[in-house]
Amino acid sequence: MIDLRSDTVTRPGTEMRNDARDAAVGDDVYGEDPTVNELEKRAAEVVGKEAAMFVPTGTMGNQAAVRTHTDRGEEVLIERESHVYKWEVAGLAQLSGVQPRTIDGGDRGVITPEAIEDGYVAEDLHRPGTGLLCVENTHNSKGGTAISPERIDAAAETAHDLGFPVHVDGARVMNAAIALDVSPARLVSAADSVMFCLSKGLGAPVGSVLAGSEEFIERARRHRKLFGGGMRQAGIVAAPGLRALDNRNRLAEDHEHARELAAGLDSIPSLSVHEPETNIVLVETEVPAADFLSRAAEVDVLGVPFGEHVVRFCTHLDVSRADVDTAVDRLATELE
Ligand SMILES: *Cc1c(COP(=O)(O)O)cnc(C)c1O
Repeated sequence: MIDLRSDTVTRPGTEMRNDARDAAVGDDVYGEDPTVNELEKRAAEVVGKEAAMFVPTGTMGNQAAVRTHTDRGEEVLIERESHVYKWEVAGLAQLSGVQPRTIDGGDRGVITPEAIEDGYVAEDLHRPGTGLLCVENTHNSKGGTAISPERIDAAAETAHDLGFPVHVDGARVMNAAIALDVSPARLVSAADSVMFCLSKGLGAPVGSVLAGSEEFIERARRHRKLFGGGMRQAGIVAAPGLRALDNRNRLAEDHEHARELAAGLDSIPSLSVHEPETNIVLVETEVPAADFLSRAAEVDVLGVPFGEHVVRFCTHLDVSRADVDTAVDRLATELE
């Protein structure tokens, strides 16, 4: 089976399993788990923020960030295809009581200063006021587009001038940094907070990180507790996360594999392929996506539907160059 559904399907190898077994642990709700503390310290350094907090999922990291940055009833400016808005069970409404105001980020999911100025609402007797801007990088729904540091800076400058903070949903921000050849810290230097996943391309079995100022993370810890994410001997799952941080540079390999996959699939006449920027390949299919995917599954190649006629394939740690070639060959033969 060549599983290209997501970079979340990777399984921890022997080293990560050994790390989990051997991890020094304590009660993290008391701040006493040395492995979690080490992970939080190193993760904060990687993204250039004062402090970080280990969370079970990216969704919890994003939602704790929104809750910490905003007051009830405020508006959150957010790209309309973004994960926080579309795929987190209306957490904005349910967990923070905020109102999303969506921005169309075009083909690549870029939020411009003009769009922020347009969407901004000043608080008065009738209007709620804008409390936060969320930016997604890489942008999943747009095909893993890597938004440049200059664009993030420009968006953040506009938001800050208007008086509200910026959160980066950086589930795959390490992919963006590698693709753009900048450090993750530089990429999010203008943002007030960033969430990134250890459990995607970096290959950890579980976990994400939310980072920001000391003061922000101290308040976010209360929201993590509120959302049910106060974990005890969490070093068992944080230990593979520490090793996952070292997998950042090898993401370049996933990007290379995505380009190979895209080039291979593009030579199949019934498919039209978007040029990938990172590890995500969007493919437009002549037949309905569901039909294409069931034929692909018959030859042991898996992807996910991303629209009526769009399929997403994702390269990751458990997909080799040979797997990519095999997947292309099998699909070409199946679709002949
Ligand atoms: C996967 C993902 C998340 C959420 O992470 P989970 O760990 O699955 O909750 C958030 N944002 C983006 C862009 C993602 O791709």
